[in-house]
Amino acid sequence: MSSSRLNAVAAVTNYKPIEKALNFSETPSKDLFGINVFSDSVMRERLPKAVYKALRRTIDNGEKLDMSVADAVAVAMRDWAIENGATHYAHVFYPLTGQTAEKHDSFLEPNGNGGVLAEFSARQLIQGEPDASSFPSGGLRATFEARGYTAWDVTSPAFILENPNGTTLCIPTAFCSWTGEALDKKVPLLRSMQALNTTARRVLKLFGHTNPGLVFSTAGCEQEYFLIDRNFFFARPDLINASRTLFGAKPPKGQELEDQYFGAIPERVLACMLETERELYKLGVPVKTRHNEVAPGQYEMAPVFENANLATDHQYLTMTVLQRVAQKYGMACLLHEKPFAGINGSGKHLNWSIGTREMNLLEPGSTPHSNMQFLVFCAAAIRAVHLHGDLLRATVAHAGNDHRLGANEAPPAIISVYLGEQLTEIFEQLANGGARSSRAPGFLNVGVDTLPPLPKDAGDRNRTSPFAFTGNKFEFRAVGASQSVAGPLVVLNTIMADSLNYIATQLEKRIDGDPGKLNSAVQDVLRELVREHKSVIFNGDNYSEAWHAEAVKRDLPNLRNAVDALPVLLSEKNVTLMSRYSVLSPREMESRYEIYMERYIKDVTVEARLTLEIARTTIFPATVKYQHQLASAALALKQLGKDPCLTVLDEVTGLARNLQDAIVVLEKTLETRSDGSTLDHATHVRDHLIPAMGRVREVADRLECVVSDEFWPLPTYQEMLFIK
Ligand code: ADP
Ligand code: MG
Repeated sequence: MSSSRLNAVAAVTNYKPIEKALNFSETPSKDLFGINVFSDSVMRERLPKAVYKALRRTIDNGEKLDMSVADAVAVAMRDWAIENGATHYAHVFYPLTGQTAEKHDSFLEPNGNGGVLAEFSARQLIQGEPDASSFPSGGLRATFEARGYTAWDVTSPAFILENPNGTTLCIPTAFCSWTGEALDKKVPLLRSMQALNTTARRVLKLFGHTNPGLVFSTAGCEQEYFLIDRNFFFARPDLINASRTLFGAKPPKGQELEDQYFGAIPERVLACMLETERELYKLGVPVKTRHNEVAPGQYEMAPVFENANLATDHQYLTMTVLQRVAQKYGMACLLHEKPFAGINGSGKHLNWSIGTREMNLLEPGSTPHSNMQFLVFCAAAIRAVHLHGDLLRATVAHAGNDHRLGANEAPPAIISVYLGEQLTEIFEQLANGGARSSRAPGFLNVGVDTLPPLPKDAGDRNRTSPFAFTGNKFEFRAVGASQSVAGPLVVLNTIMADSLNYIATQLEKRIDGDPGKLNSAVQDVLRELVREHKSVIFNGDNYSEAWHAEAVKRDLPNLRNAVDALPVLLSEKNVTLMSRYSVLSPREMESRYEIYMERYIKDVTVEARLTLEIARTTIFPATVKYQHQLASAALALKQLGKDPCLTVLDEVTGLARNLQDAIVVLEKTLETRSDGSTLDHATHVRDHLIPAMGRVREVADRLECVVSDEFWPLPTYQEMLFIK
């Protein structure tokens, strides 16, 4: 085997845990939960009562922040952080790269007499000023217009990030330009939450909730990821630079035995998960479930849902902590949507609902047909997705996710809604006059007397739907594993706000000040809504060809890839919608389009360059070495008067030639840049660059199956996925 592969395998087999084992009986998880968070209890303990109360009003009711409290908060936060070993503070923000960004400042400042003092006042808490020009702005800022501000998000608590050499106080912030335009993912998310609150309350008021408290969306994100040994990772330039393998023949054993899903978790992986969870607990992230996923080397974790803004910040932290802790255990955590071709990729199911602190507005109860309020909110979601499925699709459009969507392991690019039998029946009854009954849940009989009777849900589940109602929430399943959930949440919140706004207007018109008319008004509005929007409901197999044909008849868009999907960000319908609810202005929408298109082009171009480099400098030389060995053997046989069998040599020679040809084509394609619009460029990348890369890979993967294992330079799928 090539030395890098041998070293990698040796390192994996000789791996010894280096860390001192965690001890959960000495320090139970419940004692650790939130210890690194400037949490409610810390605030209550350390802040003057009036300040604490003012802060809670902003957090709990969305009231305007009273700036006079900031000084007291800053002092308390600083003291708490320094007591906990912090040397620096950082405004953490969420630029449009999809990653977190942070700028660290020391607490210490010169006191003017040659000494230093710990400085951190309201000014530093509330506002930071990182240079905005080096973050994607999509034309919102020119390079010389550098000013950008971060603003303290009071609703997401500050926390401390540990490092063996000291800790840092992290303050979640929103990031905007000098002109007040959103340069990040948090500003639009907060704006969308505000829009949802306003419109949902309008509807709730009609149902008699005059003071329901803040209405907000909730999110629970299931994160899928791969863990592979770090030695393999470092022997793969494609994984290091593109986060996915650009070469790799399908291993003899993949996932066809279906023995991975929920299988026993390997020891090192479990150890890593335990520490990841512990670190997340400390940061107040309520992680809950873990299991083996379908593909070898693939796992999933999910927290208990939270307020969508907080859940989004926590989701970023989850990705960071997963990657950091994996390193400690000698592994690399891969969050890419498709690290290995031919093996399932990774997604991030986004469970989403809306509610107040007291009620989940998507909870149907045991007799959903008579739960008018639930039906109204549910119908609002159906209308929202029917009218703006294209926009929802665009929020998950990026190069990585193109490998997943519609590939029989993830939902198709057609956005439809799964309701399940029970709700579908109710909505059908509504469309035909009125809803009178709901299917009852009942009990399951397994036929073994010693087993307890199991309560059975009223409907089955459907794994193939992109947007499925799952009991008391919707599950948006098209989100990619590596991406921020902020974008999808922004759109879900806004389109829901729009539907609720529409419904409130319709209901108010019909009720006309007489609460006695509520029931019939609701019946009428629901009937209309169902009739108009039922074509988005689909309970069948979303992977089937028949559905693709049916979706065309129903006029549901099928935006197959990122280049098809992203232009909907510019459509008049969507631009109007987003600016109507003050979530994203037309300029901000356009900037997002530019940024995401550019990103697509860059992602694929980097992959193409890597493909070229690896094929030329690694795979081709290995091929020639083997060719030489075969040729020498043939020559020797000939000298001995034996018949030199040339079959393999011919095959290798043919493939070597094909590889060279494919390399030349790829190089030419990389050089020809279309000089038209961003869309032209992206289309060129999709239609020419990706196929040219594919051709190089195809030949290289065939070579992998022919060239002597001794010479093959890259760790194979077999090694990366199965040696743990
Ligand atoms: P499954 O794999 O069956 O889809 P999981 O238990 O892994 O289910 O994940 C379900 C996720 O949905 C969890 O994160 C859970 O907290 C979340 N969830 C449950 N109720 C709500 C809700 N009302 N709003 C948002 N998310 C929710
Ligand atoms: Mg799920």
